[in-house]
Amino acid sequence: MSTARDVAAPSVELYDTTLRDGAQRADISYSIEDRLRILHKLDQVGYPFVEGGWPGANPRDTEFFKLATKETLTHAQLTAFGMTRRSGERPEDSQVLRDLLDAGTEVVCLVGKSWDLHVTEALRTDLDEGIAMVRDSVVFLRAQGRRVFFDAEHFFDGYVANAGFAMAVLAAAEEAGAERLVLCDTNGGMLPFDVARVVREVKAQASVPLGIHVHNDAGCAVANSLIAIDAGVYQVQGTINGYGERTGNADLVPITADLVLKMGVADVLPVGAVEHLTELAHYVAEVANLAPDSHQPYAGRFAFTHKAGLHTSGVARISKAYEHIDPEAVGNHRGVVASDYGGGATVRMKAAEYGLELPADAVGRVVEDVKDRESKGYAFDVADASLEILMRRAAGWTQPFFEIESYRVHVEQRTGDEEPLAEATVKVWTKGTRHIESAEGQGPVGALDNALRKALVNEYPELIHMSLEDYRVRVLDQSVGTGAVVRVLLDTSNGEREWTTVGVSENILEASWEALVDAYTFGLLHPRESAEN
Ligand SMILES: [Zn+2]
Repeated sequence: MSTARDVAAPSVELYDTTLRDGAQRADISYSIEDRLRILHKLDQVGYPFVEGGWPGANPRDTEFFKLATKETLTHAQLTAFGMTRRSGERPEDSQVLRDLLDAGTEVVCLVGKSWDLHVTEALRTDLDEGIAMVRDSVVFLRAQGRRVFFDAEHFFDGYVANAGFAMAVLAAAEEAGAERLVLCDTNGGMLPFDVARVVREVKAQASVPLGIHVHNDAGCAVANSLIAIDAGVYQVQGTINGYGERTGNADLVPITADLVLKMGVADVLPVGAVEHLTELAHYVAEVANLAPDSHQPYAGRFAFTHKAGLHTSGVARISKAYEHIDPEAVGNHRGVVASDYGGGATVRMKAAEYGLELPADAVGRVVEDVKDRESKGYAFDVADASLEILMRRAAGWTQPFFEIESYRVHVEQRTGDEEPLAEATVKVWTKGTRHIESAEGQGPVGALDNALRKALVNEYPELIHMSLEDYRVRVLDQSVGTGAVVRVLLDTSNGEREWTTVGVSENILEASWEALVDAYTFGLLHPRESAEN
């Protein structure tokens, strides 16, 4: 069992449910190992409560708690989630409550129904029994020495429909010993005005701290969380990157940053922790096996990237006039988009962002080269990594990592419904050694990626961390040459950062190969900073 932390209570309490409610997202499936990694990351950054799952709901959750409760945590307290006893059942006979206790956490989050419609229609019992289910379950868990946070499911809809019943459920939980009354907008349809009004009314009647747990179905999850805090809520529940069922939960990344940087609630996380938000957002995306949202507030790779010539020269002079916060405050960085309209000023600024000092003649060459290539279909405004490589070359650099001798791919269309299988062979040189490697893959790019990695990974173990995240092909119009021109964009990640490379050719394989070689070059040029392997 985890132990209580001996620290002063913060003025707002963060409660993460990435591993429980966040895992409800349709395309997420965490292994137990994934969950442990996310738990440790949240602990490391300093989140005080991390809900690990619903013990008993499936074997994976149960197994996770067996392992997780043995882990040593510095900041986070692991909590378990579960439901009240059933209608007509004694709490001591409830398997759900038994599983919750068996999880072995000091804090449990108990969910109960607070919308009369759900009690009468879903549970098919009467309202008195609905209240008793909550009361008995909290009393039982308290008697077993657990601290109880009570999640009032569908609270806002319930309050609108039958405020008397919704409040009676909260009162029962409070009397029975619940330490938090968490108001849930389970359907996610509330607007900030409604949330603020209801929170104020509830706060006038409740004596224990309130919490807020909202979903994003009306696009208001972050706003609803913040306005609830403003209206007097103490605990805010959410998930990293807003992962969750349907449109997701409230995103703790902007919520945390807003609290610390804008609402003056600096003590929600340990000192300095907010600078790790960008890294945390990317880390969780990587473990979840999802491409990070490039436009996520605060943490997105384009969250502080400016486009437009006039504007970008303004940013260089006085960033405060164009940015709501200093990107470094959340561990992100400023970027500018280079495009043919930006000219020399944008190129110099972009070079400074990369830490390059370009001689004046090189700036001129970059401007010409970018213009020329963009007219052929290259898109350097998105392919930042290819742009950096182009700039370095303009200043006389050649990549020292590998030399390509040749590559080839063939695609095998097999009988039946099976996916076509591609097989690639690459011949490359590293420091005087010739490597010939073949690999299979789903599609030619996957096969080339696998073969190139195989050929280089012994020399460059860093490549183990690199993976292709996304591959986009666009057929451009035929105005340029004779055939249709294809542009390939590749997103690559090493778990710490992502970058995009571009290739353009009339031949899709050539375009892909160009983008792939840039992706590897950039990855080797900027290896991971962390020592973790
Ligand atoms: Zn939820």
